[in-house]
Amino acid sequence: MSKDKALDEYFLIQNYFSNIGSAYLAEHNVETSIGDDASVISSSGNTQQINSLDTSVEDVHFLSSMSPEDIAYRSCAVALSDLAACGARPKWFSIALTIPQVEENWLEGFAKGLHLFSDEYRIPLIGGDTTKGNLSITVQVMGEVDSGKAILRSNAKTDQLIFVSGIIGNAYLGLNELLDSATSTSNTLAYLKPKARIDLGLQLTDIASAAIDISDGTLQDINLICKASDIGAEIYLSKVPTSIPEKSLKLINSGDDYELCFTADEEKYEQILNISKELDIPITVIGKTTSSKELVLYDDKHKRIKLNSGYKHF
Ligand code: ADP
Ligand code: MG
Repeated sequence: MSKDKALDEYFLIQNYFSNIGSAYLAEHNVETSIGDDASVISSSGNTQQINSLDTSVEDVHFLSSMSPEDIAYRSCAVALSDLAACGARPKWFSIALTIPQVEENWLEGFAKGLHLFSDEYRIPLIGGDTTKGNLSITVQVMGEVDSGKAILRSNAKTDQLIFVSGIIGNAYLGLNELLDSATSTSNTLAYLKPKARIDLGLQLTDIASAAIDISDGTLQDINLICKASDIGAEIYLSKVPTSIPEKSLKLINSGDDYELCFTADEEKYEQILNISKELDIPITVIGKTTSSKELVLYDDKHKRIKLNSGYKHF
């Protein structure tokens, strides 16, 4: 998604939807609603429910050339990724499926992808809806956290380290490989079968001050943490972990990574390295938070790389 489109979406949601029924949030124990990766709802007992929903539309969020198995798996994993960003335990999922026609082979493949997803994350499909129309898949994911433990976008503080998990840009490289040819590589797999970093999110609940899953692009998504937390950030392009040496702005900011980007105090660094070892997931410091209320990107000579004015907010 382009920078401007992501910003448009942000303002559209803020302008039209963010205050609908907000007078009733408290009486229904909704602690966090529109604006984070997922909503947080208190229930009786010591847990809170975490709820999120994502739609994947053919030729917008996935390629029409993809197998039904990959379409199903990818649509579910990208939705579940929001629970990872909140540090939630997944509990259930529902699917609203819109298909142009009933084709048994296609549905068999699609169901195979759902089985794969359901077994990998050990969650049941508990409902949904099926309608006729252009292919689109809406996945609702529900999970829980121990009360007060959800990792929000809005809690980052100044002078904290900014981390990312995994390798950034592989899904973008994979998408381009898929557009060029159909051969399967580790990059194409990153696009076709992204992982929701659930185990990492769970380990970060007492460590990260804020987190987001990288769906739109590393800088765009860090910017959302900055906006929600009313802070700024400095990012060092040369530190962003990529699989090719050319660390372009395009490569790191293309999205579809579904890695976690999170902030934490410097004193948590050793603990975070241990989590990285234990889970066998690279975790890299790519910058730090600042009080400037602006997102700034530096090249390897510590020269500022010019960014769109959308990264400045007051
Ligand atoms: P993500 O990329 O993490 O899935 P989105 O960018 O889709 O998040 O949404 C950002 C926030 O806006 C979320 O809290 C989401 O619930 C909310 N949101 C998005 N679209 C709508 C809508 N049409 N009505 C109400 N809330 C919305
Ligand atoms: Mg998200």
